[in-house]
Amino acid sequence: MLYGALEAGGTKMVCAIGEEDGRILDQVSIPTRLPEETVPEILEYFKGKEIAALGIASFGPVDLDPASAGYGHITTTPKPGWKDYDIVGVMKKALQVPVGFDTDVNGSLLGEVTYGDAKGMSDVVYITIGTGVGGGVMTNGKLLHGMLHPELGHMLMRPHPQDGYAGKCPFHKNCLEGMAAGPAIEERWGAKGKELAERQEVWELEAYYIGQAIVNIILTLSPKRIILGGGVMHQIQLFALIRAEVQKQMNGYLKTKELEDPEHYIVPASLQDDQGIMGCIRLAQMALQFSSPVSS
Ligand code: ADP
Ligand code: ZN
Repeated sequence: MLYGALEAGGTKMVCAIGEEDGRILDQVSIPTRLPEETVPEILEYFKGKEIAALGIASFGPVDLDPASAGYGHITTTPKPGWKDYDIVGVMKKALQVPVGFDTDVNGSLLGEVTYGDAKGMSDVVYITIGTGVGGGVMTNGKLLHGMLHPELGHMLMRPHPQDGYAGKCPFHKNCLEGMAAGPAIEERWGAKGKELAERQEVWELEAYYIGQAIVNIILTLSPKRIILGGGVMHQIQLFALIRAEVQKQMNGYLKTKELEDPEHYIVPASLQDDQGIMGCIRLAQMALQFSSPVSS
């Protein structure tokens, strides 16, 4: 059986066809422009591919409440044309298959717990640090939605005493995204993260904020593993710095076997940046199971 996967991002729409085991058979990337330009290309890709279901993991905020009239819509985005866009409804109508839907970061998390190193784990947080910062949460084996869905990237930060940077978030200034996303690094230091690889102070400050966020996450959600992905985390020296910051800022308050083994607790994404699209394959399978009559 073939499944369709759509990783809907603010800059690109990744479309793929895959199998139940997460194997991706074909993949294309379509630049995100206005919906009326972008969506026909997406539909063209999936038409005739005989997919049994489609999984969409989308930039947001999104409406994930099946009881809501706005279910399946991208909601308050400033991205031109996409505000209140019914991405699930449009795909369902055109492709006539069950559609699974969640946030981009919950999609990546689902990819990691289905096909990655965290396979089978039930309490995991996935954080991406790229153009923005986002976080997906699985607790007791379920992706957390709640009122809307978690927005870990906007958790408020206590600034580092030596950091004079005001922060880049238009809503909160010095939230995690405002202090630690790629564009904040670029504005604070005057160069892109990639070009700052050798500057130790850049990554120490970055680890201070990411570490602080992780301490907050541990204290509120009690995950058994924390997975970090996104472009900025390609600076792999960050992992050791972040683990040290978590230990320092936690200051001995909690003692668990996970915290005593930070190398297996705070870890990189394990699917070579395919975790998002593979998570969409799983979302598609889940949508199909949910829509099919139970057979015995
Ligand atoms: P997006 O978040 O847009 O989906 P990415 O996760 O690739 O895409 O994040 C892009 C951001 O990450 C940019 O701000 C870029 O400067 C930064 N970035 C990408 N690669 C690296 C790298 N190797 N080192 C540091 N920063 C990087
Ligand atoms: Zn913010």
